[in-house]
Amino acid sequence: MNSTPLKQRKLYIPQMSYEASACMAAAFRSIGIDAQPSPAGDAHTYELARQYLTGDECLPEAVTLGNFLKVTELPDYDPDKTAFMLPTSNGPCRYGHYLPLAKRVFHHIRGENVLFTAPTSSDGYAGIGDEANNLVRTGWRAAIVSDIIRKILLLTRPYETEPGATDSVYHDALRQICAVLEPRSVPHKERMKKILSTMRQIRDAFRAVPVDTSQDKLLIGVVGEIFCRHNNFSNNEMFRLIEKHGGIVWVSDIAEWVLYTNDEEVWRLDRYGKHFSFQMFGCKLKQAVMRHDEHKIVSLFAQDFQGFEEPHHVRQILELAHPYLPREGSRGEMVMSMGKALWYHQKGAAGVIDISPFTCMNGIITEAVYPRVSREHNGFPIRLFYFDGQQSDVEGDLEIFMELARHYKRRQIT
Ligand code: SF4
Repeated sequence: MNSTPLKQRKLYIPQMSYEASACMAAAFRSIGIDAQPSPAGDAHTYELARQYLTGDECLPEAVTLGNFLKVTELPDYDPDKTAFMLPTSNGPCRYGHYLPLAKRVFHHIRGENVLFTAPTSSDGYAGIGDEANNLVRTGWRAAIVSDIIRKILLLTRPYETEPGATDSVYHDALRQICAVLEPRSVPHKERMKKILSTMRQIRDAFRAVPVDTSQDKLLIGVVGEIFCRHNNFSNNEMFRLIEKHGGIVWVSDIAEWVLYTNDEEVWRLDRYGKHFSFQMFGCKLKQAVMRHDEHKIVSLFAQDFQGFEEPHHVRQILELAHPYLPREGSRGEMVMSMGKALWYHQKGAAGVIDISPFTCMNGIITEAVYPRVSREHNGFPIRLFYFDGQQSDVEGDLEIFMELARHYKRRQIT
């Protein structure tokens, strides 16, 4: 039996969105790793991170480091028994800098023997041990359920008549679903049955929130950099601000990104003449299993998400993006943001907000292209909001954007 050093440590998962990290931590617990979300961000996060930053780091990098440093202030912190999940990447994005920075801070400056781990398929999930396949399947289900819980929260909360009622259902829902994701040695089929029955109860609890749906709301699509758009602290609670100003948020989810990276692999294999290869077979099989699980869980919410359906295939998003940012020449979040903005337009949104960390190349490129998209779609409002960890008058700018969205919607009706 191939054990893993992670089993002797407490593993902290970066909080991109609270629901995703809570569910992902439960998935790790299902293979015997004591995992939990890293602490949430606040002003102290920046205080801690700033001691080690040079000014070149993007906001998500600073927030991730600051929240890891918060762990060192916990009463039970023991560096020899602590691990942080920190994946990495190659290429121009600063995501590849997170790990060297964290290692420099923890290992070289502070002299603390914490472990960094980054489960990845490229090394067969080395470091996870024998149960890597179980983690991948349960982890994917964790991503789907957390996306659904976020989506139904955002579609319900703007209409609630008892302030706080939807948030309370949301927290209960996360407790319930984590209790189903975390038990050890549960066969996948049996776990799926429990996920489905729990998600049915969760759906019914959201449906029971007292609401007044006669209120007119503006549907606002949210795209942008994956960490910043999901991390409420980094984006100054943008979702709540949109709700405060009469909007409903529909945000691009995390599963969409996973499906995109998988499709990129298929596309690359095709381009290099490997359509009939073992690698392609592996990718297709993985996609089929992922879609099967996703479809089973999402179909429970067909009625709740009517009018807010996600594309059947990620290639629909890429095709929408193609006239502006074709996948042959651009990659990653900029392409997905562009295509999804157009998807929201097709689904009747009143506008789209792109949430981007300051100096992130994805936002810089989409910001240059959005004016053309807007012009070619009857003045459809698309606005990019940058975040750099400073307090700025986001609300003032948002008020102006919401007015534009209201005006656009009126023009569509008359
Ligand atoms: S996409 Fe932008 S914000 Fe996100 S890690 Fe890369 S450089 Fe940083």
